[in-house]
Amino acid sequence: MTDTGFSPERIDTGKPHSARMYDWFLDGKDHYPVDAEAAQRVLELFPGVKDTAWANREFMHRAVRFVARQGVDQFLDVGTGIPTEPNLHQIVQAVAPSARVVYADNDPIVLRHAEALLRGTPEGRTAYVHADVREPERIVECAREHLDLTRPVALSLIALLPFVTDEQDPHGVVRTLLEPLPSGSHLLLSHGSAEFDPELRERIVAVYRAGGTPVQARSLAEVTRFFDGLDVYEPGVVPATRWLPEPGMRVVAEQPVYVGVARKP
Ligand code: SAH
Repeated sequence: MTDTGFSPERIDTGKPHSARMYDWFLDGKDHYPVDAEAAQRVLELFPGVKDTAWANREFMHRAVRFVARQGVDQFLDVGTGIPTEPNLHQIVQAVAPSARVVYADNDPIVLRHAEALLRGTPEGRTAYVHADVREPERIVECAREHLDLTRPVALSLIALLPFVTDEQDPHGVVRTLLEPLPSGSHLLLSHGSAEFDPELRERIVAVYRAGGTPVQARSLAEVTRFFDGLDVYEPGVVPATRWLPEPGMRVVAEQPVYVGVARKP
């Protein structure tokens, strides 16, 4: 089942893109020289950035499995990124083969790779929608075509909200996405921390900004506010590697990424 929407956008290889820089951090192959150059600049400023990206990705693995084991079998993943195995649907469908997953991203290169995201189990279903989280009502409408919104849905916003600046009202965006979801729905979220070396952080932000991508780290209090009205699971909102760590994690050292998982009462 595919809904790739209509996209007049073309892939811009003249400017670095966040999804492609992130792919570079994860040692993927789906980026252009302009992305590699910008990512390399971030690596020079912050040599730990690959570990940070992996710690984020590994949190996604643990959190998605955790939520699937709570019995949630519908997922809406916004800001999906370029496919990196295992992708979210593979993790969910290993727990619940008939689970449904809707992916959404606004980057044309993710759209181009969407097919890799749609190969799920025969019983399960995955869909891809080309959409911008800053239009949350549209995301919900697209999701409604594929998910049963009278049953719990897990909303996953992993490393997405740094790309929604304060002027774009990220807390309002999250509220609008959660509002139509029923009790028992979940929020899985990760976000770059503002509470590390402010000068270094500004230099990293400047690399993204120079490429035309505004990006913003947030404090623990600001990240915690995304969970307002929800019941946050233990251990609360914490740095990624401290969230229910498991043996065999590739990254164990603390990284400047806050994460949390919560249930809508
Ligand atoms: N969630 C994945 C990828 C994170 S990279 C993971 O954590 O592994 C951030 C992703 O958010 C990129 O794919 C980028 O294209 C997407 N993104 C950035 N701004 C967006 C927006 N306004 N709407 C939808 N997706 C967006």
